[in-house]
Amino acid sequence: MLSQAFAPLFNGVKPMTKKSIIPVATLGTPRIGSRRELKFALERYWAGQSDAKTLQQEAAALRRSIWTRQHQAGVDIVPSNDFSLYDHILDTSVTVGAVPPVYDWKGGYVSLPTYFAMARGDAQEESCCGKVVSSGIPALEMTKWFDTNYHYLVPELSAEQEFTLTSTKVLDEFREAQAQGIPSRPVLVGPVTFLKLSKATTTDFDPLSLLGRLLPVYSEILQKLSALGAEWVQIDEPVLVLDLDDKDRSALTLAYETFARDVPDLEIMLATYFGALGDNLETAVSLPISGLHLDLVRAPEQLSHVISKAREDLILSLGVIDGRNVWRADLQGLYDWLAPIVAERGRETFQIAPSCSLLHMPVDIDLETDLDPELKSWLAFAYQKFEELKALSTALGEGIGFVTEVLEVATRAVRARAQSGKIHNEEVAASVSAINARMARRYSTFAVRRQAQKAALNLPAFPTTTIGSFPQTKDVRKARAAYGRGDMSRSDYEAFLKAETKTAIEVQEDIGIDVLVHGEFERNDMVQYFGEKMAGYAFTKHGWVQSYGSRYVRPPIIFGDVSRPEPMTVHWSSYAQSLTDKPVKGMLTGPVTMLQWSFVRDDIPRETICKQIALALRSEVTDLEAAGIGLIQIDEPALREGLPLRQSEWADYLDWAVACFRITASGVQDETQIHTHMCYCEFNDIMYGIAALDADVISIETSRSKMELLDAFVTGGYPNEIGPGVYDIHSPRVPSVDEMKALLRTASSRLAPDQIWVNPDCGLKTRSWEEVTPALRHMVAAAKSLRTET
Ligand code: GLN
Ligand code: ZN
Repeated sequence: MLSQAFAPLFNGVKPMTKKSIIPVATLGTPRIGSRRELKFALERYWAGQSDAKTLQQEAAALRRSIWTRQHQAGVDIVPSNDFSLYDHILDTSVTVGAVPPVYDWKGGYVSLPTYFAMARGDAQEESCCGKVVSSGIPALEMTKWFDTNYHYLVPELSAEQEFTLTSTKVLDEFREAQAQGIPSRPVLVGPVTFLKLSKATTTDFDPLSLLGRLLPVYSEILQKLSALGAEWVQIDEPVLVLDLDDKDRSALTLAYETFARDVPDLEIMLATYFGALGDNLETAVSLPISGLHLDLVRAPEQLSHVISKAREDLILSLGVIDGRNVWRADLQGLYDWLAPIVAERGRETFQIAPSCSLLHMPVDIDLETDLDPELKSWLAFAYQKFEELKALSTALGEGIGFVTEVLEVATRAVRARAQSGKIHNEEVAASVSAINARMARRYSTFAVRRQAQKAALNLPAFPTTTIGSFPQTKDVRKARAAYGRGDMSRSDYEAFLKAETKTAIEVQEDIGIDVLVHGEFERNDMVQYFGEKMAGYAFTKHGWVQSYGSRYVRPPIIFGDVSRPEPMTVHWSSYAQSLTDKPVKGMLTGPVTMLQWSFVRDDIPRETICKQIALALRSEVTDLEAAGIGLIQIDEPALREGLPLRQSEWADYLDWAVACFRITASGVQDETQIHTHMCYCEFNDIMYGIAALDADVISIETSRSKMELLDAFVTGGYPNEIGPGVYDIHSPRVPSVDEMKALLRTASSRLAPDQIWVNPDCGLKTRSWEEVTPALRHMVAAAKSLRTET
């Protein structure tokens, strides 16, 4: 359907080899394949079902197909080395010889087994929180790539680190494209970004101090690329949109002056993305580079500043097609904005590009055969964005007359979306504008609520609980899949889930846990489950995006006003409560996490979307209370990761994010105890935000840090109750009673003992019952023993 819409310009598969007057670049493309080919190839290789050669051939086929696709769409500047078997930062580490000693690398080119050992360790454990943990040689640490949901492997550097060229990947892939008849623009992670994202193995030095040693390897790569015939190279320095100091800025100057001297014939397109250059603008435009890429989706206003400061011949790559969201572009609007600017500065000084690499986009909307056709016509995934880029460049470079129809189709889609009844719900709009300060405040202060809750719940000291999910066994997944396919009836599925829930309740009672959970067996995923029950959310079948390595996610798409047609969890919580005299804790995903892990509409502020979700969840919270659920947990593992990249924007974000949590939580009586949960995060940064949530109890991941993470709570004088995790759920290991007791003693020495809850680090869905049951028994024993000590 959508290809049809683009057909007037790009009829069929005929290659569009005509060069654009304003070149089109994509900066980077999804590497996973439209059918997740990379994941399956990797898994076959890891399982020993294929060998390295086969894996490399499968990877090469993927590269070939994405190059062909871009070429056919008329993309002029096709990237190479944007592909990665696992992660492009890891690729950079193994290209410059940054392999920590534990991997026992003897020098020379880094082998595939070493590469995967760095990526995954030598024994695998996956978890719900985007972490890979291993029991043998550990994997490199993983962390979020800027404010995306992509995770990279953190380079680990020692003060003695030497750098040498230890991979030919970037050269090989350039040659590979060449052999296909495509003169590509290789992509490299910039040296300053690489070092800034690295972790020092000791605290006494700053990785950036290694720049002088690293630059010769970069120069060597650039010289080799130039010798192979590369005319341009793209170097990504997204750190340019972060808060930098003078030392960082001098590092950038040093790096690019070095390249200009060492490789004078190679033109550098320096790519910045995910935000505005801001106070780094002067630095960026003064570098001796040939081109500068700007994210003009996040920061459209910077274009005029850059033009006024930059050399006249500095090529500006206009990142105007959204590389972080799935909406079809308003091509006419972009044309109207850019045409006069292009005319004035000169067409030859521009390129057209997405705001950032298309790595963060699903691959192809055409695969979504089940999606509502109206919604589908509003969307553009990576492949469709190639075509949008080409249309815009044609309009600006050759004349709008060449693409009138394409622009009209886009305009119609954008208008239809703006006016569609599927998007606007007056009731939702009215409830959002009726939100008042009262709704974001519990009736009484924590001290008063605490007394009411003590009386209502009557819990022992060091009360025990879990974070929500119990093992999602093969049987659970099988039943869900069968139900999804229509091979299991609704009533059979319901009966199956009831039986699982009942078992979970019985097990928890038997172990002697104080506050029970229903186990979340009915949930496929903590966001998808709620999204599927709310109006305004849509789901794709093939809209996979890489989260890390071979792990991909399909983020839901929030396309319209969000509301809750009917209760979402009351059925399961009340069923569980009907089976026991112990209190059962209700379990919800919070509004910020629901927002953060979705593609969101771009026609209203994120804050407004979050408020809509908060209102929907607030009704769920009060319904749970009315159904007799006395404790309700609202998970917000994504609260920290929503923090903007620039510190100056934190307060504003935390203001509305915290308000949304409080709107969700504050409709209940004093006796009803609100819990929240967050996985591992740097609490120091956002302690005031966490305290401001005013949840009665917060559970956090602390076991692996040996309670160090509590520091922020202690120093911050956190007033409410805390459940510091005493059991690392990322590992199959069952911790002993003594180990958990030791952790609890540490916690008690730092917090008031009556402030402390006893729970695992996170949900138990990735574990097996054989691991969970003994571990929870030990946990309960540890809590009981502590009760007698104090
Ligand atoms: N309640 C969720 C669970 O237990 C929380 C998951 C999370 O924090 N990521 O699975
Ligand atoms: Zn968690």
